[in-house]
Amino acid sequence: MNAFHAPADDADLTAWRDTVLRFLGDEVEPHYAQWERDGIIPKTLYRKAAETGLLCVDLPEEYGGIGAPFEYSCAVAEEASRLGYMSLVSNFMMHSDIVAPYILHLGTEAQKRKYLPRMARGECFGALAMTEPGTGSDLQAIKTSATPDGHGGYRLNGSKTFITNGQHAGVVIVAAKTDPKAGGKGMTLFLLDGDKPGFKRGRNLEKIGMHAADTSELFFDDVHLSEDDVLGRIGGGFGHLIDELPRERLMLAVSAVAHAEGALERTIEYVTQRKAFGSTVASFQNTRFELAKIKTDIEVHRAYYEKCRQLYAEGRFDVTSAAIIKLATSEMENRVVDACLQLFGGYGYMAEYPISRYWTDARIQRIYGGTNEIMKEVIARSLVGR
Ligand SMILES: Cc1cc2nc3c(=O)[nH]c(=O)nc-3n(C[C@H](O)[C@H](O)[C@H](O)COP(=O)(O)OP(=O)(O)OC[C@H]3O[C@@H](n4cnc5c(N)ncnc54)[C@H](O)[C@@H]3O)c2cc1C
Repeated sequence: MNAFHAPADDADLTAWRDTVLRFLGDEVEPHYAQWERDGIIPKTLYRKAAETGLLCVDLPEEYGGIGAPFEYSCAVAEEASRLGYMSLVSNFMMHSDIVAPYILHLGTEAQKRKYLPRMARGECFGALAMTEPGTGSDLQAIKTSATPDGHGGYRLNGSKTFITNGQHAGVVIVAAKTDPKAGGKGMTLFLLDGDKPGFKRGRNLEKIGMHAADTSELFFDDVHLSEDDVLGRIGGGFGHLIDELPRERLMLAVSAVAHAEGALERTIEYVTQRKAFGSTVASFQNTRFELAKIKTDIEVHRAYYEKCRQLYAEGRFDVTSAAIIKLATSEMENRVVDACLQLFGGYGYMAEYPISRYWTDARIQRIYGGTNEIMKEVIARSLVGR
């Protein structure tokens, strides 16, 4: 077992959750609605989060993290998801739970020292650019190319879309073809600095939910990359993506379960106060049965999530389990938030009631991190092959 994946002490974890909740209450709650209107979370928030230790939580101390157990990182995502700050969750998770682990696991010592301490301090934000306008699920079909320049470097050309943290990113992991004829084996990952000549950020895209989440187009026009910018093995990009995806999918499950729990809490609060036909909405048998079904749905998925989190901590979490939990929890989350919204009646459809945001924000979880159809393909492959 990895030292920084040791089981967490319950009392310490509770204290950590209190720290996370205090930060969310003081620094996020008063501003979140405005950030949703602005379509972006300001960079200053990330510095503040870093000062509280909320970024790159399980990164070893030698690289600037606090070296906490993995559960501590999950706790940040859980508390923010429960309160319905999904834009924040998606941006933080991309930075701390996807990009930082990629660099930690695949980077050279020089790359780790260059990026990780600045990421932990919230000075350099991370993005991962795989998806392109022409392809998302079929990653082997990407067109972005990194062509050897004959002097040991590369010329990067192409474009990416839907990239989380695209506007704020100080470092972008870019998937590009170094050998277009070699299929999956011709893909390489690169670390691209945000200020490189030829790198341009396009629109911060308008979405149906998670409005404050930075989701951007990126363009590469003959960007010069050196050998030192290669992350992992040349031609090993596709394999590296496959190896790192389980943590991303587990983190999506963390947020899915906690988001559903938050929706239930808000619904209980509402139906116990709202009156119809002379009694509370909570008194109707339909409401009671719906709440019971929702609670059961959540608890069953939480149990599988706890199991998967333990497997991950022990280094035994595999690609199939990751696909199963991503598929199951994101479907559950969408079922739950929809059933919860229904119990609010017309108020559920009003933007001023947070339950409406739970509903719009949940929808993406069945799409990103690999669509749920692709999850089914991965699971089926483990059963009957291709
Ligand atoms: C808010 C947001 C944030 C995102 N963040 C990032 C990011 O940070 N980095 C990044 O690289 N990408 C990111 N993405 C992209 C996301 O991962 C892709 O949108 C997703 O993988 C699907 O790709 P696509 O949109 O091209 O859909 P397509 O691949 O075109 O799929 C269209 C439909 O066809 C289905 N389909 C495709 N192939 C199969 C198949 N073999 N069998 C059955 N059905 C299939 C899909 O399931 C889907 O229903 C983000 C997307 C959004 C919306």
